[in-house]
Amino acid sequence: MRYLVISDIHSNWEALEAVLAEAGGLYDRIVCCGDLAGYGPDPNRVIDWARANLSAVIRGNHDRVCCGLDDLESFNPVAQAASRWTMEQLTPENLAWLRALEQGPLPVDGFRLIHGSPLDEDEYVMSLMDARNVFGYLEGQVGFFGHTHMQGGFSYVDRRYGYAAQLNSFDRAQRNRIVVRLDPEGLYLINPGSVGQPRDGDARAGWAIYDSDAQEVRLHRTPYDWNTTCDKVIAAGLPEVLGTRLTQGR
Ligand code: ZN
Repeated sequence: MRYLVISDIHSNWEALEAVLAEAGGLYDRIVCCGDLAGYGPDPNRVIDWARANLSAVIRGNHDRVCCGLDDLESFNPVAQAASRWTMEQLTPENLAWLRALEQGPLPVDGFRLIHGSPLDEDEYVMSLMDARNVFGYLEGQVGFFGHTHMQGGFSYVDRRYGYAAQLNSFDRAQRNRIVVRLDPEGLYLINPGSVGQPRDGDARAGWAIYDSDAQEVRLHRTPYDWNTTCDKVIAAGLPEVLGTRLTQGR
């Protein structure tokens, strides 16, 4: 089975549309590691699409806040403003759908969907040290996670911790061809990158294809029309920085 693995869409329709166009024909099912809502200008469009098209999905911290399951206090003022705006925009059906999203880790076929870490949905797995501390809680061979908006991944193979994919060791052109071959005895925590708000210095939308038969994960980056998304952010009255950061991938 081939899975399109996406995460952290954050109400960015243009990025999602571009990913779906480029990934067309490469997958059988679509799965998502959470944070569909928050930050961006198209929450209903993204969630309408998600309800119809995702085979498996878990909630992210922004999904919880935007549907009122969690209060705004843990967020900075910009994220708070975007969450309030999103909550006002969402249709009752989409609010109810967000509220009902499952908490990760969620077993899907042979792998896991995780928002933050296998231990805590709100934990950031940024470094190899962070990954080492939580590998013991990963049930199964492969966990896909999001939350950091940083594409890449970590491995535990032959009793050694390492990078399954380290983005800054690849240049811009190579980043569309990063292949992680999975050792059947190894453990992997892989972040497909953020579709809707990349923060790893590359503005292109991040996504991954996991082929469970070939035992392979391919990481991809897709350019999209971030200027249109940026204009929509400003026209919606959302904080301007939520638009301009998209153009920089920060
Ligand atoms: Zn996020």
